[in-house]
Amino acid sequence: MDAAAELIESHVADVGGMPVERSLPQRGRRTVGPWCFVDHYGGGTPTAGNGESPGMSIGPHPHIGLHTVTWLLSGEMLHHDSLGTEQPLRPGQLNLMTAGRGIAHAEENRSRRAVHGLQLWVAMPEATRHGEPAFEHHAELPAVTFGQASATVLVGTLGDATSTARHDSPSIGADLQLRAGESVLPLDPSFEHIIVPAEGTIVVDGRPISTGQALYLPPGRSELPLQANDAARTLLLGGTPFGEKVLMFWNYVARSAEEVAEAADDWNNESARFGVVGSALPRIPSPLPTWLHHTT
Ligand code: MN
Repeated sequence: MDAAAELIESHVADVGGMPVERSLPQRGRRTVGPWCFVDHYGGGTPTAGNGESPGMSIGPHPHIGLHTVTWLLSGEMLHHDSLGTEQPLRPGQLNLMTAGRGIAHAEENRSRRAVHGLQLWVAMPEATRHGEPAFEHHAELPAVTFGQASATVLVGTLGDATSTARHDSPSIGADLQLRAGESVLPLDPSFEHIIVPAEGTIVVDGRPISTGQALYLPPGRSELPLQANDAARTLLLGGTPFGEKVLMFWNYVARSAEEVAEAADDWNNESARFGVVGSALPRIPSPLPTWLHHTT
């Protein structure tokens, strides 16, 4: 085991009435590369709530300063945003929304059961975070095989497979489907990484990691040996350590309390900044950052 690797125990959070395993942010680790938020939901979790509405339908809400990366393992979602986008999302496809200075969206579960997937956020760097919002849907993504691992590349490059999805900082995002046996993946040694199991158990350097856990790997590794005793699936996320200190509050990735307060006011006052989302779901009011007394 790499002495500096760090086991992360996810905490359980509630999103739209559904329990999710959140492995980022953690108190001691806010970002891995530019990845600043990692929620895994629906993996073996029974349908939440009263049975009327399966989990993960979320009404219109705003974002600033981040990309949302939505990735499903099963089920189907419908994305609506304030750019006028209406986009179904199925397993194997990628929705990548760029908030920039402001966007709003809603996500509806189109399945009759809980969706299994990952909601990931990428912090945008200073150079682009004040820019225009945008949306990309990638119906197909590149795939590459290493030993017993079939990798789908969501963002960045793995081996000789490169995704065309937008990324504003050097980064990688891949979904690895493992068969029993060993696989060795190439890593960019300038990147730090996080391994987030989505199904089954993965063994890294002799250490088993299962859903509800994640493993942080600091920069300096040029390869990643992965073992599985049975079929397993894991996300691999990483990038150049994000050199900017971010302030995250609710759905905002900012730099200061003032920016967060302004975004909250703009959303609650229905400012044109965030536009209008064509969804029948109820609009979610923003909490106010009353506890933020100073900039960080
Ligand atoms: Mn969102």
